[in-house]
Amino acid sequence: MAVAPPPSSTHASGADQPTTGGLRVPVLLPMPFTGPFDYKAPASMALKPGDIVSVPLGNRRQTGVVWDTHTTLPPDLAHPTPAKTVADNRLRAVAERLELPPLNAELRRFVDWVAAYTLSPPGMVLAMTLRLHMKGATPAPAMGWIAPPTPPEELRITPARQKVLALMADGRPRTTTDIASAAEVNAGVVKGLADAGALRPVLLEPASPFAQPDPLHHPPVLEGAQKEAATALRHSVQDKKFSVTLLEGVTGSGKTEIYLEAIAACLEQGQQALVLLPEIALSAQWMDRFTRRFGVRPAVWHSEIGQKARRQTWLGTADGSATVVVGARSALFLPFCNLGLIIVDEEHESLFKQEEGVIYNARDMAVVRARLAGFAAVVVSATPSLETLANAHAGRYQRLVLPTRHGGASLPQTHLLDMREAPPERGLFLSPRLVEDIAATLGREEQAMLFLNRRGYAPLTLCRTCGHRMECPHCTAWLVEHRNRQVLSCHYCDHTEPMPPVCPNCKTEHSLTAIGPGIERITEEARQSFPDARILVMSSDTLGGPAATAEAVAKIARREVDLIIGTQIVAKGWHFPHLTLVGIVDADLGLGGADLRAGERTIQLLHQVAGRAGRASAPGRVVLQSYTPEHPVMQALLSGDFDQFMEQEAEQRRPGFWPPYGRLAALIISADTPQAADDAAARFGRTAPYGEGIQVLGPAPAPLAILRGRHRRRLLLRTWRSIAVQPILHRWLGLVPLDRHARVEVDIDPVSFL
Ligand code: ADP
Ligand code: ZN
Repeated sequence: MAVAPPPSSTHASGADQPTTGGLRVPVLLPMPFTGPFDYKAPASMALKPGDIVSVPLGNRRQTGVVWDTHTTLPPDLAHPTPAKTVADNRLRAVAERLELPPLNAELRRFVDWVAAYTLSPPGMVLAMTLRLHMKGATPAPAMGWIAPPTPPEELRITPARQKVLALMADGRPRTTTDIASAAEVNAGVVKGLADAGALRPVLLEPASPFAQPDPLHHPPVLEGAQKEAATALRHSVQDKKFSVTLLEGVTGSGKTEIYLEAIAACLEQGQQALVLLPEIALSAQWMDRFTRRFGVRPAVWHSEIGQKARRQTWLGTADGSATVVVGARSALFLPFCNLGLIIVDEEHESLFKQEEGVIYNARDMAVVRARLAGFAAVVVSATPSLETLANAHAGRYQRLVLPTRHGGASLPQTHLLDMREAPPERGLFLSPRLVEDIAATLGREEQAMLFLNRRGYAPLTLCRTCGHRMECPHCTAWLVEHRNRQVLSCHYCDHTEPMPPVCPNCKTEHSLTAIGPGIERITEEARQSFPDARILVMSSDTLGGPAATAEAVAKIARREVDLIIGTQIVAKGWHFPHLTLVGIVDADLGLGGADLRAGERTIQLLHQVAGRAGRASAPGRVVLQSYTPEHPVMQALLSGDFDQFMEQEAEQRRPGFWPPYGRLAALIISADTPQAADDAAARFGRTAPYGEGIQVLGPAPAPLAILRGRHRRRLLLRTWRSIAVQPILHRWLGLVPLDRHARVEVDIDPVSFL
C-alpha cells in the first residue's frame, strides 16, 4: 500500500474538464500511486479518456492511459484522493499518443472498481491490463502489390509476366510470395513487373493470427437435462443483460459440452467470449475439445505464452479479431472490445485467487466485469463453493443442474478404508486392502491411480537421536525431502539445501529419518508392490511444463500406463476412459488446521479426483484411506450427498457471520523483526474499528509466522453482510502510520489463512 510522492503534479479530482488539446488531462500510470496525475495535452494532440500515451515521469518516459475526470464508483467504494492542484504553468506535457487501440469506458470502470474493492492503487490494476511492451506493439504491416487498371505501354510481355497480370487482374493486393506461388512463377518475375511499373506497392492489412471459430462446425447432440441447460444458457447470452448462472453437475455430466453452446450463442451474435480456467497450462484436452466443437483453436492467455503471442492476443481482443480467449485469471483484464460472455470453469478453485500484488478473486471479479458491462457470466463446478451456492439460493444466480453422467456412465462407487482396522505395515502407507484392489484392477488390464497431494519424498525429516527437525531458515515450515534430487527444500520460498550427512544439531550419523509420505515415497512403495506395472508420476516436479503434461495425458489415453501416481495435477478435468480405480492415500490430509474452508476444500478436491474414475463404460471405484472415517467430510464423500454437506457447512457459518453470511477482510502485517511486527500489529489492534456488526479478531501470529524472512501477524475484520468493509478499512489504515520497516497487505474475502 506504499504511496510514493507525486512527481510533478496531482490529479485534481472531481473537476469535470474537457480533455482536448492544450488542456489538463488526468493520466493513470501503471504504478502504485493513489490516482492519476494531471498532464498538459499539447494543442496539436486531441486526447480522450482511454488513449494510451507516453508521458514524462521524473527524467524517464512512462506509458499511461488518459483517465476519466470523475469517478463512476458507488459511494461505498469511492475513496476521495486528497486533491492537490498544481498550477497550469507547472504541468508537464504528454509526449506522445501511442498507436494503440484506446481502453474503452467499460474497462476503465472495471479497473477503478477492482482497485477500490481490493484497496489497491488503481495503477496496479491498470498494470495488469497493460502488461506488455506497448512500444512496437502493432505488428509491422506487410508489403504487397496491386496491378494498375492498365499496364504501362511499352511493357514487354512474357508468358510468365502474362500469368501474373492475369492473376492480378481482379485488383486484389497480394504479397510477392503469394503471387509467386499462385501464378507459379519465381519472385524475380514479380520484381521485374514492379520495376517496369506494372505492379504498384501497397501496405497490406496485417492478417489476423486468429482463425474464426465456427459455431456450426460440430454441434453436439443433446437430450434431456443437457438440452434444457444449453437452451437456458443460450437464452441468458442472447438477452445481452447481466446475469450469472451456476452450471452444476457431477463430473462427466457434460458441463463443458453445455457451456461450449453458450459460447456458440455468443459467437452467433458477433460477440467475444472469455473462458477462465484455473490451470490453463494443464488444459491440452480442453483445447482439443474446443477445436472439435468449433474447428479452430481459441486464443490463449497466460503468463508463459511469450511476448509475440501476448501482443497478438492483446491487440486481437482490442480489435475484436480474437473472438474466444481461454486464459488464466489475468485474462480478465484484457481489453475486449465486444465481450458478451465470461465462463469461469471449476469456479470453486482457490487458484482463482491471486495472493500477491493486487489480491483479488478472478471468479468474483468476472461477475463484476459482467455486471458493469451488462452481459452473462457462467460459473461452472461439480462442487460449487458455498459462496456461489448461497447466491443461487438467494436467487441472485440462476442454477442449472445436470444430475447424471453422460452416456449412461455411472458415478464411481466410494469405499471408506478405516486405516485403524486395516493398517499398512510399518514404514508403509498403503493398506493391504488397497494393494489388493490395485492388483486386481491391473490384472483386468484397467488403469489405477493413487492420489496424494504432497510433493517430494517426506514432509518432515527428524533426527532419531535428538529429535531435531529440519526447518527452513527463512520460513516457519519444515523442509521437504526430495530424494530424487537429493535435497531438502522449502515449499514456501526458494530455499534448498543438500541432505546433510549427520544431524546438524547432535552430529549423529545415519540418524535423520523421513517422517510421513510424499508422492516419491508412495511411488517407491508402489514399485515394490507392483514391480511389473508401468508407473507414471504426475506432479509439477516430474512434468516440466504443459507439453510434458500433455504427453503424459496422451500416454495414459493410449494405455501405455498402468498406474498413475499424482498430486493435485491429476484432479484437473482429465478424461481417462480406462481408469477404473482411484486410491486416495491420505483422505484426512487438509482437514487439519484452522482454515474456515478446510472441509469444503477437501471435499471439492477429493470429489474431483474421484471423478476421474469410471468415465467410460467400465464402472469406477474410489477407495479413501482415512483414520477418521466418521468425519462429516468422509461421510459425505461416501454418500455422495454434496448438497447436504454444504447445508451443514452453511449452518455452521451462519451464526458467526462467516462468509458468505458476513464479510471478511484480513490485514497481514509483516516486518523484518518480530518486535517491529508486534509493534505494528499492536497499533492496528488498539485502533481496531468497532460497532454493531463489526468485529476484529487478532492480532495473532500468522500460521506462517515467518515467510521469506519476514515476520507476519494477522488481523481479521468480520462484518455483517450489509456493511461494506472498504470504508472501514480506509479509516483504519489511515489511523496507523507505518514506518518503512513494516508493511500491511489487505486481503478482501481471504481464501488463504496462512
Ligand atoms: P464435465 O465437464 O461435466 O466433466 P464433459 O463435458 O467433460 O463433462 O463430458 C464428459 C464426456 O462426455 C466428454 O468426453 C464429452 O465429450 C462427453 N459428452 C458429454 N455430453 C455429450 C453429448 N451430448 N454428446 C457427445 N458427447 C458428450
Ligand atoms: Zn522457506
